[in-house]
Amino acid sequence: VCDFEPGAIVSDACASYDTLEQLNEAIHPYLHSITQNTDFFSHYRLSLYSKKCPFWDDEDGMCGNRACAVNTLENEEDIPLVWRAKELGKLEGPTAQHPGRQQQREHPQKPLQGGLGDQVDESCVVEYDDECDERDYCIPDDASATAKGDYVSLVDNPERFTGYAGVGAHQVWEAIYRENCFSKPPKVAQSSAQSSPGGASPFGGFNNPEQLQAANQLRNVLKDQAFGKTVKSAIAKGADPARLDPVEFDDTCLEKRVFHRVVSGMHASISTHLCWDYLNQTTGEWGPNLTCYEQRLQRYPDRISNLYFNYALIMRAVGKIKQHIKDYTFCSQDPEQDKRTKNSVLRLASALPDGPEVFDETVMFRDPDTVALKEDFRNRFRNVSRIMDCVGCDKCRLWGKIQTNGYGTALKVLFEFDEHDSSKDPPLRRTELVALINTMHRLSHSLTAIKEFRQMVEDRDGIH
Ligand code: FAD
Repeated sequence: VCDFEPGAIVSDACASYDTLEQLNEAIHPYLHSITQNTDFFSHYRLSLYSKKCPFWDDEDGMCGNRACAVNTLENEEDIPLVWRAKELGKLEGPTAQHPGRQQQREHPQKPLQGGLGDQVDESCVVEYDDECDERDYCIPDDASATAKGDYVSLVDNPERFTGYAGVGAHQVWEAIYRENCFSKPPKVAQSSAQSSPGGASPFGGFNNPEQLQAANQLRNVLKDQAFGKTVKSAIAKGADPARLDPVEFDDTCLEKRVFHRVVSGMHASISTHLCWDYLNQTTGEWGPNLTCYEQRLQRYPDRISNLYFNYALIMRAVGKIKQHIKDYTFCSQDPEQDKRTKNSVLRLASALPDGPEVFDETVMFRDPDTVALKEDFRNRFRNVSRIMDCVGCDKCRLWGKIQTNGYGTALKVLFEFDEHDSSKDPPLRRTELVALINTMHRLSHSLTAIKEFRQMVEDRDGIH
């Protein structure tokens, strides 16, 4: 039986660290091979440059644009990172402009301009299902007829340290965590799954930074007071203060805690990758940075727990679409390639536990009172995907968008798909499937990296 108690370490997911690590060892090679060796899963289409941040002005000194990040980097590291941040955040490898829906409709088989390399069958990359579905948890990146798509090789653009930091990055994280305030009225127009026009604020209508800051300060004071009382009483009952997390001790229901865990787990996974593939600015070499791990992850068991939680959640979602994959048409142009791709995904899916063994989604949204909550949950997750357009570093935005789409897809599969009768399932877009598998690979890599980091700490401290 799942234990969704506040303060639970991974128990929300019904599987222990050990179980998940063992599973990970078995499936990591499949995931690695799928994401690195198949054209289908090693490329992605998204609107990387054409969407403006819908929440704050890009010219604003406080926002997550490139200039903010660069300035902050200079201050933090005291080296000329203005240049490096820009360089490291740049995307490499084949990219091509999306041909636009009109051209797709008129010449569906015509090869695209720009090219994805000789091995990539470009006609496979174009898809026609840009339309939104009300059951989506993400805004499809090319939902708007005017949106342009960019093709990116994920292999040539690994997620790693970019130097993006400071006020801009913090503002984005802050906006994402603020989506967890379910008690507040919805902040962005939510009836439509299309991008809202510029100017919408994720901050309860405060577009003016001073107003917003004052409101936040007040809210934080009130929250700290309430949290202080809860913490005192939890500690009096024997709780470990190091493990207390404000969100878990707020008066939150299960669904809200899950929302927080997903976001925090995604954040923890990003931190793991940047610590694992870090640039030593003295030697110019890339490699694991143990101090980075200790400061951002080891000190916070809840963050690591949330990362494992996400792995269990995604694993369940991928396990749930086994039949869907069997019926999925990858691309009609190259049957041999299709077959290989399908077989590799099926090998992965069959290595996953059957049923809700690692994660039981049926305990959520069960109560009739939670119907509206589900809608709210979905809308807030859509907002998180919109916030990604505010990330001021290309590579971070790329992986941020892939991972939010991956989690959004996992939530859609968990809460909207029927494992036993797929006739009413919403459609699964190519980009959703690619994002789901790549997000799972990212988490799998994070688990491996964390295990290595733990070992490095033990070796250094002489613990055996
Ligand atoms: P941050 O990581 O910015 O965290 C801000 C605050 O959030 C912390 O002070 C803490 O209070 C809280 N917090 C931190 N982690 C968690 C957690 N797991 N759960 C709950 N709360 C938490 N940088 C790169 O080098 N490479 C990337 O690929 C990259 N991708 C990014 C993608 C996105 C979407 C964003 C918003 C940023 C990305 N960054 C990336 C920047 C990176 O995440 C950090 O913002 C940056 O390294 C500065 O880190 P920090 O230590 O100041 O704290």
